[in-house]
Amino acid sequence: MICYLYDAPTYLFFASDVPALLYYSHVPATVLALLVGFFVYFNARHLLLNKLLFIIAICFSLWTLTSLVSWTNINADFILFTWPFFAILSSLIAILSIYFIYVFLYKKDAPLLMKSAFTLLLVPVILFAPTNLSVSGFNLTNCDALGFEGTPFKIYYTSLGVIAMVWILALLINAYKAAEKSFRKQILLMGTGIEFFLFSFLTMTFIGTYLVNIGILEDSRLEFYGLFGMLVFMVFIGALVVRFKTFSIGMIASKALMIALVVLVASQFTFSENSTSAILTSITLLLTAVAGYNLIKSVRKEIKQRKELEVVTVELDKANVRLKELDKLKSEFVSIASHQLRSPLTSIRGYASLLLEGSYGKITKKMTEPLERIEDSSKLMALAIEDYLNVSRIESGNMKYNKADFNLKEEVDRVCDDIRGDTIRSGLSLIFRSDLKSRGVINADLGKTVQILRNLINNSLKYTEKGSIKVLVRDDVTNKKIFVDIIDTGIGMSEKTQETIFEKFERADNANTVSVQGTGLGLFVALKMAKAMGGDITSFSKGDGKGSRFTLELPLAM
Ligand code: ADP
Repeated sequence: MICYLYDAPTYLFFASDVPALLYYSHVPATVLALLVGFFVYFNARHLLLNKLLFIIAICFSLWTLTSLVSWTNINADFILFTWPFFAILSSLIAILSIYFIYVFLYKKDAPLLMKSAFTLLLVPVILFAPTNLSVSGFNLTNCDALGFEGTPFKIYYTSLGVIAMVWILALLINAYKAAEKSFRKQILLMGTGIEFFLFSFLTMTFIGTYLVNIGILEDSRLEFYGLFGMLVFMVFIGALVVRFKTFSIGMIASKALMIALVVLVASQFTFSENSTSAILTSITLLLTAVAGYNLIKSVRKEIKQRKELEVVTVELDKANVRLKELDKLKSEFVSIASHQLRSPLTSIRGYASLLLEGSYGKITKKMTEPLERIEDSSKLMALAIEDYLNVSRIESGNMKYNKADFNLKEEVDRVCDDIRGDTIRSGLSLIFRSDLKSRGVINADLGKTVQILRNLINNSLKYTEKGSIKVLVRDDVTNKKIFVDIIDTGIGMSEKTQETIFEKFERADNANTVSVQGTGLGLFVALKMAKAMGGDITSFSKGDGKGSRFTLELPLAM
């Protein structure tokens, strides 16, 4: 069936008697949407955000295609066939816009519940679009299906546009409140762009049809103007691409996009036939120019920053080389100095103990105390030197580990026996317990393991004035791990202290009140050694004065 008023049938897009504004509003908006959508998608295909924008652009271009076809055709069956696509495509654009904004704001896929809601909202449109509820007839006189649209159906799908606008607004406001400054700017740009697009695209169509239905307007030409909303949206998207890298697209590609945008919008002047289109083109061109100006500004800024960065990098490189040299010198110095100190110290210790033993004749009671002090101090000094040497070995990568199988429980027991004398002298008790499901054999460096144990138990001794020290060996056979807990009733540690004690030279404020001897290196060295053997050391305390627990963890050999 062919419309009465028109004698020669025209098919698809071209007809001599349709308003020029039809092409002027449809073609550039579609080209621009496809250009930006395609560009964004192909520059970073893996991003869901980019995919969604591309799909929206495709739906939009299908919509404009449907619109062009129905405006230029006089074959009633053909127009009726295309009619339901308006409803389906505009609903899809509305719902996809919500999805798009969600992904933009939260940088993740929408939750399943939200996606189910999207589907539920779309199902009625898709189900009823091909039925009489959507469109029931055709006016062959004015060649239009407009008056035959099912009202509830039309109200339903146009209200999806309103739902989308409100939903998006709520999402935007919510995210805006929590966002930081730079993202807020992006939210404003994106929000204005999409809301403007949805409003002009969906609402104009609705108002246009309504005014035609009640007889105020002759045809729904008003909806043409709505399509310019897409141009504005795409310009905003362009600005987001360039200024904020929203779609993760590189600088050069962004520049190309902006130039294409400006050229495309400017070329619309060649189409413009009347003052309205000239005004619209001017507005879009102005917006594009603003975005382009921003691009130039940001390119300049980026070049400047890159240059500054290069200078800083060169300086940093130099400083780094110098620091490495200094560090090497420092390690060498520590190592040499410590070695040099070690041998005279050994003889000081040796002679002091020989003197104390009376190897050089009987010593008076008065002389005993100073000699004991010499012996004690030189012992502490030897320990400190050993710490420095260990640090220098660790830092120069010269610490060697000789691994072998041995029974950890037996070693812990032995270390406890060695230290028990000192604990008793300090008025403390030292309790050793084991709770093992395995034999307790590990594959590690025996000397280093003993050194870690001594260090941890000696620390408990140093930082406990009264009470006890409990040493517990336990294992976790499933996870192939063995643990040694050293639990004391000493000065404890605040949370702040616990954060730093494993660092070099770190000692707690309360450490000096109890025991002044200490380099703050013991735990640093112990942790490095434990980690090198596949283990760890952790600390726990309820706070100052509430005791501490240190746990050495090592892998079980099974
Ligand atoms: P230091 O030579 O000072 O003992 P460490 O590295 O062995 O050095 O220990 C670092 C700091 O950790 C100590 O100065 C002390 O503040 C804290 N600390 C270590 N063990 C204990 C413990 N058992 N109870 C309370 N504080 C401890």
